[in-house]
Parts: sequence; C-alpha cells; structure tokens
Amino acid sequence: MSTKIKFDQNSIKFRLWLYFLSLVVGIVVLIWVLQIFFLNNGYEDMKVKEVDRIASSIYHAYTRNDANLTESIQELSVTNDFYVMMESDGTLLLFTPEQENIIPVYRYQNQIPKLRASLEKSKQASLPVYFKFSTTYEKYSTLAYGRYLDRTPGKEVLLYIFSPLYPVTSTVNILKHQLLSVTTIILALAFIMITYFSSRITRPIKSITNTAKRMGKGDYNVKFEADSYSEINNLANTLNTAAYELGMADTRQRDLIANVSHDLKTPLTMIRSYAEMIRDLSGDNPEKRNAHLQVIIDETDRMNQLVSDMASVSAMRTNKVVLDKEIFDLSSAAASILASYQLLQEQEGYNFIFNTPKECLVYADKNRIEQVISNLTGNAIKYCGEDKVVIVNIKRVGKKFRLEVSDHGPGIKPEEIPHVWDRYYKTSTNYVRPTSGTGLGLAIVKEILTLHRCNYGVESKVNKGSTFWFELEAAKKEKEKAPVKPKESLPDRPK
Ligand code: ADP
Repeated sequence: MSTKIKFDQNSIKFRLWLYFLSLVVGIVVLIWVLQIFFLNNGYEDMKVKEVDRIASSIYHAYTRNDANLTESIQELSVTNDFYVMMESDGTLLLFTPEQENIIPVYRYQNQIPKLRASLEKSKQASLPVYFKFSTTYEKYSTLAYGRYLDRTPGKEVLLYIFSPLYPVTSTVNILKHQLLSVTTIILALAFIMITYFSSRITRPIKSITNTAKRMGKGDYNVKFEADSYSEINNLANTLNTAAYELGMADTRQRDLIANVSHDLKTPLTMIRSYAEMIRDLSGDNPEKRNAHLQVIIDETDRMNQLVSDMASVSAMRTNKVVLDKEIFDLSSAAASILASYQLLQEQEGYNFIFNTPKECLVYADKNRIEQVISNLTGNAIKYCGEDKVVIVNIKRVGKKFRLEVSDHGPGIKPEEIPHVWDRYYKTSTNYVRPTSGTGLGLAIVKEILTLHRCNYGVESKVNKGSTFWFELEAAKKEKEKAPVKPKESLPDRPK
C-alpha cells in the first residue's frame, strides 16, 4: 500500500512558509533595487549635490575675503577630485589642481563659454548652472558646474567646477556579488528558521489533534499536553477539562444503567416469587391471595418509583437533583419495606426484628429514604448470618431519629469499611451465601444521604455482623406548612 503525502495549502505550516518566505524575498528584492537601481541612477544627483556644496563653501570663503582662498580651493579640488576654475572679465584667475597635462584645461575651457552663457541667462535668479558633457578623450563623461561668486556689474567673478563622473558599473558589480552572497545566506537562514518555527508551532497542534481523535473514540482518560505557547496551553487546558467532563458524563450514564438494573432486580424477584405463590399456593385463598397481590402492587409501585429515581441518579452527583421533601413517619416507611419481605420470613425462616418508637416524624424525601432503607435491609438479608436475623432499630438521639439495620453476618474488615460506599465495591469476605449484588446499592445510599446532608455510617466486626445507620432530623408537624431550609453544613464522613 502506498501512502500519499497530502499537500495542504491551508495548513498553518504552509501558510507560515508562505508568509515568512514572502517577507524574506520582499526584503531581499528591496535591498537589490535600492542598491543597484538607485546606485546607478542616484550617482549623478549625488555628484551635483556634492559639487554644489563645495561651490557654496568656496563662495563663503570668497565673500569673507579669506586669505587662504586659493589654498583651500586647491585642497578641496584635490580631495574631491574636482577641477576648479575662477574667471573674471574673461581672465582665468585660477585653475586647480595644477596640471602638467594641458589637455584637461583645454578640454574644460571649451565648456566655459557654454557655462557662461547659461549663467548670463540665469543672472537674475543667481542659480548655479550645470550640465553633463563628454569628450572623445575619456571614456566617462564630466559634470560642468558654474555659479557667480560676485555679480557686481563689470567686476563679475565666476566659479566653474568640473567633476569627472567615473562609471559606477564596477562598484555595482562588486555590490552585486556581495548582495548575492547575502541573499543566499538570508535565504538559507530563512529556510532553517521557517522549518524550525513551523514544526515548532504545528507539533503541539498535531499532538492535540491526535489526542482529540483518541478522545473521540471514547477514551476520556487522555491528557492533552500543554506547551510553552500560552494559546496552546489554554487550548490543552480547555480540552482536558472537556475530556474530564465528558468522561464524568459517560461514567454517570453507565452508572445509571447499572444502577437501574441493580435496583430493579430485587422488586422483580419479589414480584415473580409472589406471582408464583399465588399460582401455586394462595390462588384459592382470597385472604392470602389479596395480601400477596398487594405485595406485587407495592413492589410495582416501588419499581415505578425506582425507575424515575434512577433517571435522576447521575444528576444527584452534580447536585442537580432537588429533593422532594415532606414530613413523614420514618417508622411506617420502614415497616412497609419490612412487610414486603414477609415472604422470606414465612418461607425461608428469616427473622425480622423491628424496634421503633410510635411515631418518628422526619422531614425528608420519602421515596429516597425508603430507597435507602430498602437497600440497607436488602444488604442485611444478603449478608446476614446463620441466624438469618435482620434487626431494624429506630431510636431518638437528641433532635434526630437514628435508623439502624443490623445483621449477625460476616461483617466487613476495618480496612474495607471506607470503600463499601464506593461504586462497584465488593468486600473480600467469604460470605455464607453467594451474593448477586452489583456493588451499587450503598453508592446510591451514600448519594441520597449526602443530598439530605445527614450523618450516616457503618459499624462492623468480622464474623460478628454489621450495623448500617443514618440519622434524620426529627420534624414537628408545623414544618409541613413552613419547610425548614436544609442545613448548609456537609454531613459527617461515613464512619
Ligand atoms: P451489593 O449489590 O454488592 O450488595 P452494595 O453497594 O449494596 O452492593 O454493597 C457493597 C459491598 O459492601 C457489598 O458487596 C458487600 O461486600 C458489602 N456489604 C454491604 N452490606 C453489607 C452487610 N450488611 N454485611 C457485610 N457486608 C456488606
């Protein structure tokens, strides 16, 4: 199988390349244009300005009556490679630098009438005049420049400067060579830098994309790697939070399904048992049949309740569930749950002991507290000892009612006690009977009791038995009209 490398012109890498390269090429072109084009074309202008500047300084020296005028002109002409002439009334006052060769004098003198004529024309404006001329003697042309030093009629003094315009081609060629090297170095450096930066910037993005793909496939334990760039850091942190939230939502969803099936199992078993009972035993005995049918109806109701409760079980964790609190008798609630186990009492020899004060009014969500009692009693039955005794005690403790469900079963090892409230946790103890639990019952109990902000816990001794308990604040009848705000403090940790 051949793998095709895709060229994506919208990729950050390509765009970075493009922008960076354009910038570098732009700068290089600019340097070339400035150096080559302007050197060629600006040279003559530069020369004119230079000559003009020298002419001005001579003019100032002349008007000052500088005693060293001739020497200074001599020096200026040598250092700048100019030929300077001064003329008054057709007489040549000065020609410098002094030449052994007569040709320049002759050559330049030929231009003087032309300069003089131009100056005559621009006398009023007192502007300098200049032009370029070339002769057959030299390969390069010369700049001829003239200006008045004195315009007093009859005593006019004129200044002429001749500056050879040496060709700049050779200089330009040297520059071209230099520029070529500079361009190559710049392009090579740019190439290395673009390659480094583009991969430096795109690498973390690629890694984030790969991690996101894994997350898309359902792996929410992924870790988006942060980088030194703040923007990528922020992105990674945001995605990590998103992955965590998605993971939580996924777990909650799975928990919910597991919880539903777990909590539906018990009532379904009951319904089936009682239906069989009616079919096989009590069908002809109206009294027993009705009692058994009532259990089936009660279980169906509870199941119904459970189904709607389960729909909100995952939301409980995020405190999105609002408890439907009311004042009810905890004692009757526990009694009705125990009544549903009457069959076990009758047929399998279970012994349910129920101790309670007459009326135990509490302010809580009745259905959810019944769910708690049902779970705790169900566990006590599952994990009870040889004596098959399950004790449910309700007692008043200060301003609270404490409900305890005890058994004389295998108990729980001290180190395992804190974990029994965790989802899917099953202790390592060998039980008398095989258990069918899924390890969710106590997790649901914990959620409900935590939402009620009440104290709860377990006391257990291996081979002696366990007591699961919770406390609910006692309610007065008036509270029905004015419900008490739930306490803000969190409940104690399970003991
Ligand atoms: P399960 O469906 O497995 O009973 P629970 O959440 O109700 O799930 O209980 C979690 C674990 O705690 C059980 O698997 C069991 O090991 C332990 N446990 C719960 N109740 C009792 C009890 N009354 N006696 C001994 N162990 C218990």
